[in-house]
Amino acid sequence: MLKRIIVTTLAIFCIFALMGCTSKGSTADKKKASDSSPAPQPRQLSSETYYMLSYDATEDEIYENADTEFPSMYLVDENGNKKSDFTRDLKEFLKEKDIKAELNTYVQYYEPTTNIFYAYLWTKDAEGDGLYAIDVNSKKLKQIISGDDFDTVKYIDYYKDKLYIGVYNYNKPCDEFVFTVSDDFTFTRIKNENNIIKNENYFPIPNTFKSCFKIQQFSMARAFDELGYVVLQSKSNDNEESLIQIFPDNSRKKIDSINIIDDNILYYDKEKIVYTKLNSTGDESFLDIYKLYLKTNKTKKILTTDYHSVVEVSNNKMNYIDGFSLYEFNFEENETKLVFSNEKKPGVNIELTQCYQIQNDNFFVCFLNGADIKFHRIDNAGEQAELVDIDCPIGEVSNYKYGTVLPGHSETKCPFCNTIISTYDYELFQLSDEHSKYASKINRSLKGKMDDFLNKKFEIEDESRCELHNEEYFINAYEEMKLKGVEILNDKFLTVTMNEYYYGGGPHGTYYTEQYIYDLETGEELSMKNFFSGSEDEFKVLIAENAKENYVNNNEDYSFTSEDDAYNAVKNGASIDSTYIYYAKDHFTYCFGIYELGAYCEGEYRIDVPYEELNGNTKLTRVK
Ligand SMILES: [Zn+2]
Repeated sequence: MLKRIIVTTLAIFCIFALMGCTSKGSTADKKKASDSSPAPQPRQLSSETYYMLSYDATEDEIYENADTEFPSMYLVDENGNKKSDFTRDLKEFLKEKDIKAELNTYVQYYEPTTNIFYAYLWTKDAEGDGLYAIDVNSKKLKQIISGDDFDTVKYIDYYKDKLYIGVYNYNKPCDEFVFTVSDDFTFTRIKNENNIIKNENYFPIPNTFKSCFKIQQFSMARAFDELGYVVLQSKSNDNEESLIQIFPDNSRKKIDSINIIDDNILYYDKEKIVYTKLNSTGDESFLDIYKLYLKTNKTKKILTTDYHSVVEVSNNKMNYIDGFSLYEFNFEENETKLVFSNEKKPGVNIELTQCYQIQNDNFFVCFLNGADIKFHRIDNAGEQAELVDIDCPIGEVSNYKYGTVLPGHSETKCPFCNTIISTYDYELFQLSDEHSKYASKINRSLKGKMDDFLNKKFEIEDESRCELHNEEYFINAYEEMKLKGVEILNDKFLTVTMNEYYYGGGPHGTYYTEQYIYDLETGEELSMKNFFSGSEDEFKVLIAENAKENYVNNNEDYSFTSEDDAYNAVKNGASIDSTYIYYAKDHFTYCFGIYELGAYCEGEYRIDVPYEELNGNTKLTRVK
């Protein structure tokens, strides 16, 4: 259940980001301002304005053709129609410049008024890591800030002919860089007239919010002009931690009503500050959203939402997700209205924090269309909403390429007190007829597996556990089998891969990945015995020899202490009947689950074996 682990990790990271880092700022920023040469013509604002949609599917394993190095990025115009495939253009561009780079969605920003793309590039050669400005149309690229000079970029703003870049640093003060940008794509760093954070342990909080990590459009200069103040967050552990309002004349006012540790500012304007408070009960976390009225210093709770629900907050409104649907809350009227009604689709894994995007008041949603996940524009928001396919694909879902997916659910109740003590969820793959004459036979077999899973019985003998069942924070056991993906190998074999996750209390659940394999020409379910003609013992030796080889080649492989240790542990544990065998194009992978060979923290242990060693064929071939 790798996905769940990733999501959890991301969630923790997000909490960290929301709460703000508390590491101590120590050394003064030693960066020198660049020489001030005669100012060239400032960058002309473009006559056409474009916006960017981006989705990073690298962690969504079920997307077959997801790019591993770049998110899917598209430029759209003011009306939300596709202008170009920016990922393709950028890759061509970097190839032309001979730069090998990686990029992820959280460190890129497309500035709409100048049409310049900013991204942190992890480069693989001399250019060096850092924040780059890229003008794909004029084929120009500049590194603006070296990766050594900052940790993360929080905001970028092109305001009154100047480019502002706010950076967050973990071990030194944060900073706001200011540049002039000339028409010939020269970036000149100039003095920051409003650099109130320089050499102080403060960080300016943007007055808008985009879900986790996204770079915001914000600058202190714009906030002073438009709002009359900026909210700063104290960054240091040693100083008294606080939030302050700072005004253009450098006067300051402490904001007492908002707790810097637990609360997170989403939005502020002349009248109010909107912030969230984490509200955890049992195994669920919610966000309570509050408004602080600056004139009266009174606070008021305005909404409670799911923890990961806030998509974007700007222009006096907040867009958030409830279930899978998108809503808009208007801070002026304190009213919620539906933007788009949506449901979780079985067998499709879309990262909720990236699922909805809003650009220039156009709403977009990542939606399954055939077997493709694509950006769709949402027209006529509300009950009458319509999806418009704008031809911006993100990836293909194999589950829907070869068939369809049906959801299954069951729960068990305690026979004595009627409390639900366990729930089960399943995603059932069903093959389309066009792929096999025996599709219905295969589908019956797959459905049988689901029925076995959902009809599992929990043994409850007496009422001894009912006291526990009736506790307020009782959490029932939960088990799910989610469809990870399906493949057809050699036009002959169907593999169906399932991610299993079980939680029965305690600090973490367990997970494993199981794979079923079918012969499309006969409809039979197969096992390793159909591909290996030797004995069980010979199979164990084959796996163990490969484990030994792994140990020698990778030196510190897994927790084995020697070649012999690796060989013996694996030989004892391997079984020809295992369902933790995954078939690929030219090899299979034998997997030991998280508890099979060692402690939980060791994770899974996987051994790849070429088919050639199995039965002399380079492709997967039946021997029985
Ligand atoms: Zn009970």
